[in-house]
Amino acid sequence: MIDTAPQHADAEGVDAGVGLTALLVATARAIETHRPDSLAQDVYAEHFVRAAPVCADWPVRIQQVPDGDSNPLWGRFSRYFGLRTRVLDDFLLRSVRTSARQVVLLGAGLDTRAFRLDWPADCVVFEMDRAGVLAFKHQVLTDLSATPKAKRVPVPVDLRADWVTALTTAGFDPAAPSVWLAEGLLFYLPSPVETHLIDTVDGLATEGSALAFEVKLEKDLLKYRTSAIYTATREQIGIDLLHLFDKGPRPDSAGALTAKGWSASVHTPFDFTHRHGRGPLPEPNDALEGNRWVFAHKPRHALVEGLPDEAECE
Ligand code: SAM
Repeated sequence: MIDTAPQHADAEGVDAGVGLTALLVATARAIETHRPDSLAQDVYAEHFVRAAPVCADWPVRIQQVPDGDSNPLWGRFSRYFGLRTRVLDDFLLRSVRTSARQVVLLGAGLDTRAFRLDWPADCVVFEMDRAGVLAFKHQVLTDLSATPKAKRVPVPVDLRADWVTALTTAGFDPAAPSVWLAEGLLFYLPSPVETHLIDTVDGLATEGSALAFEVKLEKDLLKYRTSAIYTATREQIGIDLLHLFDKGPRPDSAGALTAKGWSASVHTPFDFTHRHGRGPLPEPNDALEGNRWVFAHKPRHALVEGLPDEAECE
């Protein structure tokens, strides 16, 4: 058993606490989906938003937001999530095309990649999140008669406790290459949990595996309390992200992986805004300033030299 210091707002489902952030991201994806210039399409996203009473009055189209794109929450933050979805879609698809056939989504939330993306026929997607979040997701997708494009295996767990047994019992094979994603997850977890999670992924990931994750580098998160994004999220939909984020000093997970022999490249979201021509740009008092997207690969011994930098792969 690892450090189980309380995570803020321990509600199990999507209607409160950190689970509600899954609906925030789904709403952003719904808005992104219906834009003419969208970077990612998720036709299921708006159904999650409409199925949850807690967000009955949240928008699912940018036209439903009075100040539209200039709204810090549904404009800029949605651009951020839209870009993040696209970049990580691309990362996962590249990884399964090269070797991995097992995809593990840590803190999967309302991620519908198992349904949206064109996976190789023999791919398995493991979705790990709390039982209440996965139950809500299952109900909505069942009501839609949605069909996954890969074998999909929900694994209900609390990632603060031991989750390896649940994953391997669900069919994960540590001897075969895998690709892992921790999208919008680590900053909600206590620092020792993040360290343990990264160590555990390293232990379960054979050579040829890959991992992408998102971190926040800011030493003092509260410095951004008055930022437009945090203020709008708090005032418009009652989610106080700074309350939910863990405030302890963060581990250097990219450095830890490098020390274990992985390659890791670290990018700002803004790098990808420039590449895709859409996404957030830096602004004063910017709560996204410290966000980094990390792309790590565990090399095959024969290929230690010359691994591609993720940023150069597209
Ligand atoms: N990765 C998804 C996405 O980007 O759409 C969801 C991101 S949402 C911001 C954070 C997710 O992490 C929520 O679904 C929440 O339930 C999950 N999460 C947070 N702490 C967790 C924990 N201790 N165990 C399992 N899941 C957790």
